[in-house]
Amino acid sequence: MRIGIGYDIHPLVPGRPLILGGVEIPFEQGLDGHSDADVLTHAVIDAVLGAAGEGDIGHHFGVSDPRYEGVRSLDLLAESWRRLEAKGFRVGNVDATLVAEAPRLGPHLRGMTAELAQVLNMEAARINIKPTTAKGLGPLGSGEGIACLAVVLLIEAGDREA
Ligand code: MG
Repeated sequence: MRIGIGYDIHPLVPGRPLILGGVEIPFEQGLDGHSDADVLTHAVIDAVLGAAGEGDIGHHFGVSDPRYEGVRSLDLLAESWRRLEAKGFRVGNVDATLVAEAPRLGPHLRGMTAELAQVLNMEAARINIKPTTAKGLGPLGSGEGIACLAVVLLIEAGDREA
């Protein structure tokens, strides 16, 4: 078994869709970034890559690379996971904490979980996403951005055909 951690933060700006875990969430602001700025999926990618000892998201999908401009982050997770699955990894479980002062994320957790489970080829019941707030403290507390911390346990089953 191998454990990995991922952390990400993006600023909220007007005029962008808010995408978390591949789900578009109705809100007056969205996360800014080179890709769709899906902070949950970015943290999960880093946790998955970290567990596998494969560096980080920036190493595989450079921010200066025009191929990844506006890309759906869930597609980057799918690309990362295909490689790792071919190396014999499967996911034990995913646990993530999303820090967002607004909007309320509770109604969207099931959708995010389903999207991540499909891409990671795993049961949704092994993915846990916990929304919380920063209790008004600091830039996250004033709603300037959304942050995410994710932990992933990978199970190494040895080589197998891709
Ligand atoms: Mg990011």
